Amino acid sequence: MNPSSRIQSIDLSNEEEKAMESATNVRGVTSIQELYGQNVFSLKTMRNYLSEKAYNSLSNTIKEGGKLDPTIADEVADAMKTWAISKGATHYTHWFQPLTGLTAEKHDSFISPDNEGGVVLEFSGKELIQGEPDASSFPSGGLRPTFEARGYTGWDPTSPAFIKEGPKAATLCIPTYFVGWKGEALDKKTPLLRSMKALNKQVERLAKILGIKCTQMAYATLGGEQEYFLIDLGYYNQRIDLVQTGRTLYGKEPAKHQQMADHYFGAIKDRIIAFMEDFDREMWKLGAPSKTRHNEVAPAQYEIAPIFENQNLAVDHNMLCMEVMQRVAKRHGLACLLHEKPFAGINGSGKHNNWSVTGPDGKNWFSPGDNPHENERFLIMVAAVLKAVDEGAALLRAGVASAANDHRLGSHEAPPAIISVYLGEQLTDIFEQIEKGAAAKTSKQGGTLEVGVDSLPVLPRHASDRNRTSPFAFTGSKFEFRAVGSSMSLAGPNVILNTIVADALAQICTELEKSSGQNINKAVQKALQDIIKKHKRVIFNGDNYTEEWAKEAKKRGLPNLKTTPEALAVTKDPKAIALFERHGVLTRTELISRYDVYMETYNTVLKYEADLAAQMAKNMIMPVVLGYQAELAETIKSVEAVNKGKVQEARKILKEVTGLSETAWEQIGKLEKAAPSGAAEKIKTAMEELRETVDTLEGLVPAETWPLPSYAEMLFLL
Ligand code: ADP
Ligand code: MG
Repeated sequence: MNPSSRIQSIDLSNEEEKAMESATNVRGVTSIQELYGQNVFSLKTMRNYLSEKAYNSLSNTIKEGGKLDPTIADEVADAMKTWAISKGATHYTHWFQPLTGLTAEKHDSFISPDNEGGVVLEFSGKELIQGEPDASSFPSGGLRPTFEARGYTGWDPTSPAFIKEGPKAATLCIPTYFVGWKGEALDKKTPLLRSMKALNKQVERLAKILGIKCTQMAYATLGGEQEYFLIDLGYYNQRIDLVQTGRTLYGKEPAKHQQMADHYFGAIKDRIIAFMEDFDREMWKLGAPSKTRHNEVAPAQYEIAPIFENQNLAVDHNMLCMEVMQRVAKRHGLACLLHEKPFAGINGSGKHNNWSVTGPDGKNWFSPGDNPHENERFLIMVAAVLKAVDEGAALLRAGVASAANDHRLGSHEAPPAIISVYLGEQLTDIFEQIEKGAAAKTSKQGGTLEVGVDSLPVLPRHASDRNRTSPFAFTGSKFEFRAVGSSMSLAGPNVILNTIVADALAQICTELEKSSGQNINKAVQKALQDIIKKHKRVIFNGDNYTEEWAKEAKKRGLPNLKTTPEALAVTKDPKAIALFERHGVLTRTELISRYDVYMETYNTVLKYEADLAAQMAKNMIMPVVLGYQAELAETIKSVEAVNKGKVQEARKILKEVTGLSETAWEQIGKLEKAAPSGAAEKIKTAMEELRETVDTLEGLVPAETWPLPSYAEMLFLL
């Protein structure tokens, strides 16, 4: 097999042409404004389909968090149906997010017999509000034994219904939460909504203390940057490891990979830009504000970023983003890899979780303001995050734990497993000044700083001093949590983030409320001092990749949870359980059930990866290696017959290949023994050892006989 014959599934030139054609359409036919949100039953669309009463009621629920009025359900359902049918929909589905971390849907058509041999198209308020999928096969961690398999999906009106276009017709998708018959959360959305509420409650409490007028609901905002790889679909289809596990279990690092960093922000290839244009278009139709696109550091790696939105919506849009990417990639003869570490030795992919809070005054509470009052609010919020991240570091780590992400965290590219906060020099300095005392000189600025009285110096908002190595960085007007994995739902990490910050704020508010009637600025100053004293250990502005930092972090007592089982164990801690219960986010049972599900997922992934690695070595790779040995032996024999004593080097190669081959067979045996044991570390070591041998063999066996496309082919031939 030679490299080019490996591209089997597509005719490149034709595919490129098609891709370019659809890209051209973006420029031609429809304007972006026309396209944008055309498949969303948004407030704007609803205006045309609902009575004023129903519209106002629903709009209040969506914008102000008002209670959903069930008497409008029938009208809304009917309007949705009419709109959906006009878009070619034949079916509807409750769209939800079980603990698999994926989305789920079960379609029902609108048809209902009219008793005269025909049908009418119906969709009732009841069907809109509640569904009952046969959900016994979704993981629930023992929350819902299969004999009472009922789970309910419930309409989440705060995330608008949308149309998914199929090849022939369309489906109306209704975002829903998914709960058991007693209301137990069986999904990722329910706790997210609860945690948003918990955060909102504390933010409004703080607003009251600070005398900030509430004109709207406070909510967390989120912008999730998504990294991914694109490789040729032909290669993908020949890598059973990629197809089944999302990552390459074997593969020798190519001589040139990312050393030159010549891919980063480089000119985007035509075939890729065609994909991106199509992708943007699909996202825009769904009302998802896809904004930025560029090449990433690793070859064949890219990133897209949306404009931030209400957190709940942003999570849903990221789920759609991952789905749309995979679909559009196929259309272009590409495979989109969302795994955290598809290629060993090459940068993996993450998802930067840009998080902030829009206060009840409509302002970003993580933006330093123009006046001392706003700065006071800003400093309290930042201090709350410091406290939250220090107290909740292990939980944050648990929130991004998965078998796949373990390959990334703690390697030399992604943030380490140690969670610390980057504040930047200037903001750190301000907190140091606050710690020292009320009217201390701000050394960098030369002024004095009394919280709530003096203005802050203007903080740098942009790229210059950004620390790419920090797992949790303040970036001007938001915090960026960078340890999230590329394939994960953003819900989990945000549930934790919202909850720990809500808890920190609750404690701060309790303190401040004690001194009501007195000078609030003084009370704030004191609270900030206490926090900075206690939690400054979590601030780290240096290089997070160094050995020294690992040592220093240990000295500071910061947790360094390297593997998923270590990290997940934290969620069973009584303190963690009390935290989530205190804020009404997850009950003990719900939390433990998540622990069980995620641990089982982890062990399952390890097991099937180990099985596949052994299998591939045994019946794909080793036969080729044996064949090469035979060929070498044959060659040596026949050359020796003609040229006696002249084949020293070939003998050496044969000896090396034979040695490695024997080692590999032994290692396969070891892996086959380890796999069923369930002992994670043993399995991982056995896989790594076998991989090292196999990758060495890849460098010795003739390339044309190697049964898997190489890293160089996959990463560079597009
Ligand atoms: P930078 O270039 O400094 O990283 P960007 O403005 O490009 O900043 O932001 C990166 C991501 O952060 C984008 O998805 C953006 O929408 C998001 N973002 C910006 N402001 C906020 C905010 N207030 N809340 C949440 N996300 C935000
Ligand atoms: Mg970023």
